[in-house]
Amino acid sequence: MQRLKASISCPSCGASFEFLEGTNVSRCPFCNLPLLFQSPERILSYYLESKLSHREIPFIVDRFRKKQREALPDRIEHVKLYYLPFWRFTAQIFYAKINLSFLASSPEEREIEILAKDWDINFPAYISSDLNLATLGMRPDWLKLKLLTDTNLLKDGQVLNLELNPKEAKEKALKSLKFFMQDKKSREEELVLKLVDENLCLIYFPLWVVNFIAGEDKYFQIIDGIAKRTLFQSLSHFELKPNINQGTQESYPIRIIPHRCPNCGWDLPVLPFHLIFPCENCHRIWKTSEQEYLPVRAEIAAPEGQEIRTTTKSIEYYPFWVFQARPRDEGNFTIRKLVELFPSEIGWFQVRDKSKPFLFYVPAFEIKNLNKIPAISLAFTRSQPDLEKKIWETEKLNGAIRSEEDARKIAELLWLGLIHSKINFRADNCKDLLLENAKIIWYPFQQEGAFLTDSSLGYSFQKTR
Ligand SMILES: [Zn+2]
Ligand SMILES: [Zn+2]
Repeated sequence: MQRLKASISCPSCGASFEFLEGTNVSRCPFCNLPLLFQSPERILSYYLESKLSHREIPFIVDRFRKKQREALPDRIEHVKLYYLPFWRFTAQIFYAKINLSFLASSPEEREIEILAKDWDINFPAYISSDLNLATLGMRPDWLKLKLLTDTNLLKDGQVLNLELNPKEAKEKALKSLKFFMQDKKSREEELVLKLVDENLCLIYFPLWVVNFIAGEDKYFQIIDGIAKRTLFQSLSHFELKPNINQGTQESYPIRIIPHRCPNCGWDLPVLPFHLIFPCENCHRIWKTSEQEYLPVRAEIAAPEGQEIRTTTKSIEYYPFWVFQARPRDEGNFTIRKLVELFPSEIGWFQVRDKSKPFLFYVPAFEIKNLNKIPAISLAFTRSQPDLEKKIWETEKLNGAIRSEEDARKIAELLWLGLIHSKINFRADNCKDLLLENAKIIWYPFQQEGAFLTDSSLGYSFQKTR
């Protein structure tokens, strides 16, 4: 996904500064205030400022007509700026091709491949009149978004109604995604899709509409206020059609708040895409939800063995979402039970205490290569690391970019991949996995150059930033 550039005016000092789309927190470079402006489920509105002014419009009209070898207008009748709202939906897609009829019936065990990709789409939220702009296109250089903190910022034009509400917009996006994905599987296979890091935002795009007379005829042109060119000319006069429905005249007011620990008031870590923030002062862990900070259940795993403790290599702690996992029909799903059901999974035979409940692990930290997430998740889930817990002293805890809900979706998909074609499994009662008692556990990793190696499994992966 190409993240768009956006800018915001600091609510404290008023200076404008840039951030990347998808950013949750940022620090004002002028007054140094840490700010929270995005959290899961929140819809931000952006707008684009027209690069054309009212008086430049006749020149654009002339240029188009000259190119077409048409007579220049005799009279410009009416020029008007409209803001056409677009919904933009972005997500990371995790998917697997699963032949569900194989469940519990195939004699051979086959590993299911979990794939991941970034996905984004945009389309107008106003549809009554065709303004000849079906998509914002891929022109991120042009699209320097500004965060819409006040609808008065658009008062130089007419803001067109939202005729698709957020729910309808999401449905439309998912429909296109399914259409786009359908050729990724064969006829016998079912595509299981999980969308994580979903984000829906509104972008108001400036379009100029100009009615004019040339010769005996009435014309109108629609002019792209960013690309500064005519999109469309028609031999008629433009009139906005009445809305097909009332539209949802919703607005998405944004309140930007200082990004500080609600317990002690200390600045929380300012990492743009993070969702979970450890307070280094009072050692509480917070997640953001709308305009609130909520406490998260969290633990820190102690490094194992003398060798690690005395090493000079630096240790960093990375967070995993950990769920107590059980099939819907199983009351107490221990590792022992899992061993019986998965005779080919060597890892689970090596767990020392098999009376413990089965835990599912999903990395909560940022990993550049999305396709690595299932591998890391399964490596931890297969080994059920049982490290002692320690209290947080001076350890460096890296924050999390993945929400509990998203981690749960990834776990469900991985589980489906795991049980697929396992001969000892009755498919019907094990398909649904309940993931309960979510918490975050920070695991120690040794840093070696660009790589991080976890200290109990020796699992290595490349660090992002
Ligand atoms: Zn400021
Ligand atoms: Zn604090």
